[in-house]
Amino acid sequence: MQILGCILISLVGLRLVLSLWDSIRTQQHSANQRRKSLELLDERIASIRALRKQTETQQPHWNGYRKFRVDRKVLEADNICSFYLVPHDGKPLPSYRPGQFLTFRFQLPDQKMQKSKPVVRCYSLSDAPRPDYYRVTVKRVPSPPGVDAPEGRISNYFHDHVIEGDILDVQAPRGDFSLDPAEESPVVLVGGGVGVTPVLSMANTILETDIQRDVWFFLGVRCGREHPMREHLQQLDERYDRFHLMVCYSCPEECDESEKDFQREGHVNLAVIRETVKVCNFDFYICGPPPMMESLVPDLKDWGVPEEKIHTEAFGPATVNRAKKPSTPQKNQTDGENQPEITIQFSRSETCVTWDHNQQSLLDFALDQGIEIDSGCRAGSCGSCEVAVKQGEVEYTVEPSVEVEKGSCLACISCPKTNLVIEA
Ligand SMILES: Cc1cc2nc3c(=O)[nH]c(=O)nc-3n(C[C@H](O)[C@H](O)[C@H](O)COP(=O)(O)OP(=O)(O)OC[C@H]3O[C@@H](n4cnc5c(N)ncnc54)[C@H](O)[C@@H]3O)c2cc1C
Repeated sequence: MQILGCILISLVGLRLVLSLWDSIRTQQHSANQRRKSLELLDERIASIRALRKQTETQQPHWNGYRKFRVDRKVLEADNICSFYLVPHDGKPLPSYRPGQFLTFRFQLPDQKMQKSKPVVRCYSLSDAPRPDYYRVTVKRVPSPPGVDAPEGRISNYFHDHVIEGDILDVQAPRGDFSLDPAEESPVVLVGGGVGVTPVLSMANTILETDIQRDVWFFLGVRCGREHPMREHLQQLDERYDRFHLMVCYSCPEECDESEKDFQREGHVNLAVIRETVKVCNFDFYICGPPPMMESLVPDLKDWGVPEEKIHTEAFGPATVNRAKKPSTPQKNQTDGENQPEITIQFSRSETCVTWDHNQQSLLDFALDQGIEIDSGCRAGSCGSCEVAVKQGEVEYTVEPSVEVEKGSCLACISCPKTNLVIEA
């Protein structure tokens, strides 16, 4: 009996020890689980903070021009080439907000002889921010059809003369056409032709975060030969459920396969977007040629997309933001009524004209008068439209983000405050 009692007590004791051990292990396991979830949460918070920090960085990371070496030159489609740039000084490469652009300065060989002004052009960063390189993707611009004019100067120079190992002068990334990669609401990205560059940078950035954000990506090109980054986009489509790709070819060729190379024949328009996205309350980021922007932006507004959710970038002369040219002389226009008459004298061109209050900037006004002023970003960011103001005062529509010499102004964001004499 005694032995039996001892065995029973030992068994009960063992049972107690085992259940105690079990409960300690369970507690340890749940503590480990909790710790892991907290670590994951911390990592997520840190990555969102890092993204936010990157997004909030408004100031350019260096002043003026910095030298970059062309590390790689890659053909992406007919007449579209990517250039991978690494800092020549070997110092760290600052990040940027997806959608921003770089400003390049070129002193072309024939210009050196004539000692004329360097040529400035902007090119969007076409990849997600990387620690070791910047990438821009340039389309060769031909002469306009039926016009006896030289082909695009810098885009052709990039294609024909810039080679691996070359050194280029580059300003820090800038631009307001950019999104917050830490946001969680779905986003619609639309690129037309080489206008795909900033929206591709946005898509790559979003998809590389672990934020489950739907990305609707529309690309409009003429045909397969002009389809940049085809494989990359298809890979994104296969890899991410939250990436929805719709490629439209306006003039597919015989070798282009529907459903494989492209999804729709025709242009990216409201009908295609509406049918695919269905909801009009997302943010839309659009960059494309003038006809695409001119039709799509008003159509999206008519569909009910709030104006503040439509974000655009124009590569050429701004097509969406630009004020319409007055169709009648200014004094007959309601907008112009009760406005003081202001005269603008372009001293070099020996032209004196009355300011049109419907114009958005001195640059647009000058170009409409046939007066040449260089321009790049048209957003007060690259400084290429700086002109000397010999008399009078201007006011800025937005604050310049480059330093402007005293006595000069950036024509792309200036309007006259008084009569002006301008060196142009
Ligand atoms: C913010 C921003 C981002 C951009 N991002 C990109 C990008 O990612 N990729 C890209 O490829 N481009 C981009 N661009 C456009 C780029 O900056 C250049 O405008 C483009 O490459 C054309 O420059 P170019 O020097 O080759 O042409 P330009 O020499 O400026 O010529 C432009 C056009 O005018 C014609 N022309 C020239 N002279 C005359 C004349 N006397 N009479 C009539 N026509 C004439 C040319 O034939 C050409 O068709 C961007 C622009 C901006 C503002």
